[in-house]
Amino acid sequence: MEKRTFAKLGDSVSLLGFGGMRFPLIEGTTEVDISATEEMIDLAMKNGVNYYDTAYPYHGEKAEEILGGILKKYPRDSYFLADKLPLWMLEKEEEVDSYFDEQLRRCGVTYFDYYLVHSMNAERIPKMEEFRTYEKLKARQEKGQIRHLGFSFHDTPEALEKMLAVHPWEFAQIQLNYLDWDLQHADRQYQILEEAGLPVVVMEPLRGGSLTNLGEKGTELLKTARPDQSIASWGIRFAASKPGVMTVLSGMSAMDQVEDNLRTVCNFVPLSEQEESLLQSALMEYKRSGAIPCTGCRYCMECPSGVDIPRVFAIYNAYKISNHGFGLTNSYQLLGKDHQAQNCVECGQCMDHCPQKLSIPDLLKEVKAEVERVEKEMDH
Ligand code: SF4
Ligand code: SF4
Repeated sequence: MEKRTFAKLGDSVSLLGFGGMRFPLIEGTTEVDISATEEMIDLAMKNGVNYYDTAYPYHGEKAEEILGGILKKYPRDSYFLADKLPLWMLEKEEEVDSYFDEQLRRCGVTYFDYYLVHSMNAERIPKMEEFRTYEKLKARQEKGQIRHLGFSFHDTPEALEKMLAVHPWEFAQIQLNYLDWDLQHADRQYQILEEAGLPVVVMEPLRGGSLTNLGEKGTELLKTARPDQSIASWGIRFAASKPGVMTVLSGMSAMDQVEDNLRTVCNFVPLSEQEESLLQSALMEYKRSGAIPCTGCRYCMECPSGVDIPRVFAIYNAYKISNHGFGLTNSYQLLGKDHQAQNCVECGQCMDHCPQKLSIPDLLKEVKAEVERVEKEMDH
């Protein structure tokens, strides 16, 4: 397993990090399958993965306890634990401390190796300042409860520059993958962090799994070039090929994903120029499919009208990529009437929480229209 060390931090961090947002679930429930998760983490540990990432809201606020419980059997200095402050949930300044203490308790640890202000954007900077978040966390660092202080980020390059200007952060976590390289200006964000000398933690290297299926033509292009490699491996390699990247977080939800990622990083080979250009051609094919760039993060939930926004988009995207009309109507029916797109009353609440800044109500209208069109077509 390749490890990367940045002078600023001094840690030797595995190139693959374990994202704790998409643990496997017990079939038909939203409960995490803890024993399956443990097996996956055990395999990752055995193969040198030493960076484990969690956050307060993941898995209905249960992820921290689950991850902490699994890691307990390993010496505390054999892994790096990253957790994040959910600033948007805080109502008063004192809660910076009370949330932090609660997170230590949930994880069953006395310190975090990496602690981030979660999901920052320009709009949240004033609140961060008003609550004296940085100063309070810095005090925790002085007490030895945080080793490195950073932030995770979803916004424009200009907003990233603002974040860097307010405090001397030690690292940053951004969404970096070959689709967002242009789409969300990850190229510029990466460059800004590199110039500022901040190691980069990558999230969403596969955009919530969307970049594991590039459609028939895109898949064929990549498979012809590297028949032995998965489509997912191209996304991991794209991010890991950037020298300023410290670790690439993958939110693994099945053992075969852990095995596949390990194969990719244990014998890591950066993308060649030729492979980069091939990946761009495959991406063009994917873009042509018209899939919605939703990562499935579920930050937009709960919708007061019952719409299961990420599932509606996932069903629609599967159809856009496969062009399989029956799959669309069948999955849509199985989702249940109460959770379908037509229940949206356009209140706009979900949009405030979407890190991808998707125009959710408009997209739901599109999905609704497309489902109706396909249903009609199938009736004839
Ligand atoms: S805009 Fe629609 S989908 Fe979003 S929260 Fe409101 S009702 Fe739900
Ligand atoms: S719509 Fe936005 S917030 Fe909701 S799951 Fe998709 S990317 Fe996440």
